[in-house]
Amino acid sequence: MKTGQFELIYLACFVLVSVVRAVGVTLARRQADTKQKTLPKWNLDTLGALLQSLGLFILPFVYLFSDWLDFANFHMPAGPGYIGGLLYLFGIWILWKTHRDLGANWSDSIETRQGQTLVTGGIYSRIRHPMYTAHTVMALGQVLLLGNWIAGPSFLVLQLPFYALRIPAEERRLLQHFGRAYRDYMLRTGRLLPKLG
Ligand code: SAH
Repeated sequence: MKTGQFELIYLACFVLVSVVRAVGVTLARRQADTKQKTLPKWNLDTLGALLQSLGLFILPFVYLFSDWLDFANFHMPAGPGYIGGLLYLFGIWILWKTHRDLGANWSDSIETRQGQTLVTGGIYSRIRHPMYTAHTVMALGQVLLLGNWIAGPSFLVLQLPFYALRIPAEERRLLQHFGRAYRDYMLRTGRLLPKLG
């Protein structure tokens, strides 16, 4: 196992992400699962979960706990490494706010549920997809924490392009579900960053 300071910071961040996610899942369970079950078994959500797992921890764990990816290692200087740690922590902080604000409306699927309410407060008052913003910031942190050309950028490269498919699909569902209310909400918010002006 690699025990450099930045690898250990990455592991600590991974534990924190898992705790935040577990709390998020608990908050969401307060609502019975009434998701529409019309999707085929393999859909955008399964693909997203697979890409996220690979980039967020599977490839980093292969790098940390084996020598299989060592051919792609490089020395990470201290400055970028610490910035990476701070970025990752900042991403986790945003992630925590999204779970707190979404509460029972969170799910790992792009589908809406019966009884879902439209959240427009807290961090959602300026940004429509702050959870994906959080993932982006965490992914940038990971690039700077792991001194490996495969494991470092894996989250950024595997997960984020997928959001180009996921965000429009999720917004189409939210528009179907909430209609005018979501359309108005779209006008005053940005997708991943607060709307300028
Ligand atoms: N895309 C959002 C939420 C990700 S979780 C973000 O990045 O923060 C995905 C679930 O959140 C989907 O089931 C979707 O229907 C729901 N969702 C997304 N935005 C929402 C909102 N403003 N209010 C309520 N539910 C929302």
